[in-house]
Parts: sequence; structure tokens; C-alpha cells
Amino acid sequence: MIAIRAAFQSLLFFLFVTLATQATATDHTFGEVTSTPTKIMTGSPCLFRVQMSEAPATLAGTWQGHDLSFAPSSNRHIWYALAGVDVEAAPGTYELQLVATIPDGTVHRETKSIAVARAQFPTEKLRVPQRYVEPDAETRVRIAADKQLKQAAFAHQTTSAEWSGSFRPPIQSTVTEGFGTRRTFNGKLASIHNGLDYHAAPGTPVMAANSGEIVLARELFYEGNCVIIDHGLGFTTLYMHLSRLEVSEGQRVEKGQEIGLSGSTGRATGPHLHVAVRWQGAYLDPAQLWTLHLPELPSPALSTASAPASSR
Ligand SMILES: [Zn+2]
Repeated sequence: MIAIRAAFQSLLFFLFVTLATQATATDHTFGEVTSTPTKIMTGSPCLFRVQMSEAPATLAGTWQGHDLSFAPSSNRHIWYALAGVDVEAAPGTYELQLVATIPDGTVHRETKSIAVARAQFPTEKLRVPQRYVEPDAETRVRIAADKQLKQAAFAHQTTSAEWSGSFRPPIQSTVTEGFGTRRTFNGKLASIHNGLDYHAAPGTPVMAANSGEIVLARELFYEGNCVIIDHGLGFTTLYMHLSRLEVSEGQRVEKGQEIGLSGSTGRATGPHLHVAVRWQGAYLDPAQLWTLHLPELPSPALSTASAPASSR
């Protein structure tokens, strides 16, 4: 009897230790998971911040069908991902799923529910030259070629965040048309204004909203002289209708660096600067991006150098 009791006790002890260990592994690796802004609307950019008690080699995630890569702070205990919600997404509650890989190979998972509310946008009627509404055959060929160029630019891959700190408006001027406006062109074509229009006299210097790599700098049919900056991990900013390009494709730019002069090239109703923010195929509200308070990140080279040897 004594032997059976001892065996039973040691089994209980084993169960207790096993359960306690598992509880520790799941409960304490992930710390606080937060999103900014606290109320996320359709079309809004957002920052996910994840605190980790153990410094993982990598932190990845999924959000509304998008893959997320997180960038670490210098001590690798806080991880950030810049993301957003497509303007056409349905309001509701979505799951942010996280997967952390610890240098010893252990994998930890965490899920956080995040609410998305519907943003309201106005409607506007615009008049532009007819060729921009009903382009001829030759122009349609050019538009298709432009589309390929843009897709190639958006397909550009970076393995780390190139941005650091908050984004800045590319010019200091008044906004003449906000993001999300439902527009008709000459009473026909309907589209959603996927950027922000700034009043800009021709020749106004335009600055990079944050650091990154120029993935497109050329003249396109609708966009006119256009610049696209890749800020890393699928987050890009676009600058359109420029009168002059001052950067070239493949070049690295710093936040605040002059990239060109404003103008009215392409499908523009007059001189202005159109700025857009695109994350993994979704256009986001630039005005909200400017107000997002973002952390300073260690330079990608530095964070790679400090990564554990086992990380990829
Ligand atoms: Zn615009």
C-alpha cells in the first residue's frame, strides 16, 4: 500500500510540475500587446507593440490575412509592427496572431482580439480632361505598362524596417482633400481618393516622410512624375504630380530629405501634391500616419548584428 501511495504521490507531483511549467511557458513569455491608435478605423494605419519577457530571435504574426514582421528594440524585449486596415475592410473584431521563436528554438504563440470601427468619408464630384476618364487604345497600353512598373515597385522586398520615429508630412501646407473621399470623374468613373491632397504652388520642395529606399522615380500617365519610397516590411509612401524628380530608383533617402518639386503632371485638376500610404496592397490615411507616435528603431544593420546567432 505504501508503495502505491508513494507512486500516486510522485505522479501527482509530476503532474503539478508539468502543469506549472506549461503555465509559465504560455503565460509569461508574452507581456503586454497594444495597438495605437486605441480605436482603429477602416483605412487607418496602426502600430502593434509587443512586450516579451524573453528576447525572441524572431517575432512574426498575422493580421487580417497579412503576414507581419516585427522589428525589435535594441534590447529585443519590445517589438513593433507598422500595419493598417484596408479602407474597404468590414468593421468588426479581428485577431492579431503572434508567433515568437526563442533562440533555443522554442515557439510561443499569443492571440489578441482587436476591434475595427467603420470610418465615414465624404463624396465629391470632379472634372478632369476627358482623356483621363476614357483613355484611347494607345493610352490604355501605357496605363497597363505603368501598372506593371508599380507592381514591381510594390513587390520590392526588405527584411527589416527602414523607418525610424514618427513619419512627417512631406510639405507644410493645407490639405485640400482628405483621404477616403468617394469621387466621380466627369460624372462617370467612381473611385476612392486613396491619398491626401495638399495645396502646393508649383516648385514647392517635397520631403521624404521617413527613411527608406526609392523603389520608383519616373513619369506615369495618371500619377505624373511619381516617387515611391519603401520604408521596409511592405510599408510605402507615394508622392505624385511632381514637376521635378530629385531622386533615382535604388537610392536610399533619409527622413526630411528633398525628393522633388511639386507640380501638376498626370491626372491633376491643378497644381497640388498627392501623397499616399500603402501597406501590403492597402491604402491608408496619411493624415493619421503623421499623428502616429512611432518609436526610434535601432538601424537594421545594428539589430541584425545583435541578433542571436541562431536567428535567420
Ligand atoms: Zn489626390
